[in-house]
Amino acid sequence: MKQNNTNLILIKGIKVPSIGLGTWQLNGSAGKKTITEALSMGYRHIDTAEMYGNEQVVGEAVKDSGVAREDIFITTKVWRTNLEPKQARKSVEQSLRKLDMDYVDLLLIHWPNEAVPLEKTLHELFLLKKEGKTKQVGVSNFPVALLEKALKVGDIFCDQVEYNPFVSQQKLLHYMKDKDILFTAYSPLSRGMGIGNNVLKQISEKYNKTNAQIALRWLIQQKNVAAIPKAASMEHLKQNLDIFDFQLTEDEMQQVTGIAL
Ligand code: NAP
Repeated sequence: MKQNNTNLILIKGIKVPSIGLGTWQLNGSAGKKTITEALSMGYRHIDTAEMYGNEQVVGEAVKDSGVAREDIFITTKVWRTNLEPKQARKSVEQSLRKLDMDYVDLLLIHWPNEAVPLEKTLHELFLLKKEGKTKQVGVSNFPVALLEKALKVGDIFCDQVEYNPFVSQQKLLHYMKDKDILFTAYSPLSRGMGIGNNVLKQISEKYNKTNAQIALRWLIQQKNVAAIPKAASMEHLKQNLDIFDFQLTEDEMQQVTGIAL
């Protein structure tokens, strides 16, 4: 993966751009245009899922952008009702057909489902990895106990969970840093809510940034954390990449962490 302006983090020797584009609700021709624009702006990490119904749009946007496939980190997810091995395989093959790609960089179990033994699903996903259909296997919405169980089956690259200044994830974060697992923060802007917070506002004035930019900077300044903000507007897309020219102090990091405590 070539250098780009989204800063790379290194997990088990694999480079992952610390800011990705969340694509939930980016559908149809408008969604395709947004994703293409994002790629031309410098985004090199895209988060999709079979559930979002937009894998074809993502695939077309990648082609339209002219950016080489190998320079983009692409994640997709298997939905929780498709975790039986046969269904999981079918789901992944369908995702790849829609994306029109030979592989994804990361394949996640979107949500746990107690009705299907975790080991069975993971064995199939690791088989798909062996076949080259995904580079890495991970999970999403897994708390520590379940992640621990998953790690007994094989090498889990990532857990994607909700994380932003209004949701504390200290226990999971600590566990994952220790195991060198990628912590992908979804809804990093709390879906646009809470962004008017006073602590964020005070810090944003010092750096001449927006509250949203402070929230993202706080996330990616933590070890192993990547964030995948969704943005449909060009202004938001640009702002969310423009967070690499300043650094929060240790005290400011703690102030933002303190919002959710
Ligand atoms: P989010 O990224 O926290 O927030 C998106 C909202 O914030 C949109 O309304 C967007 O507006 C606004 N926004 C974006 N940039 C902004 C900025 N610089 N300033 C002010 N507002 C800004 O919410 P999300 O879509 O829930 O989460 C992001 C991604 O995480 C999803 O797209 C999806 O890929 C992933 N996700 C995963 C799971 C899971 O279970 N694994 C669950 C939820 C989400 P505009 O769109 O109008 O620009």
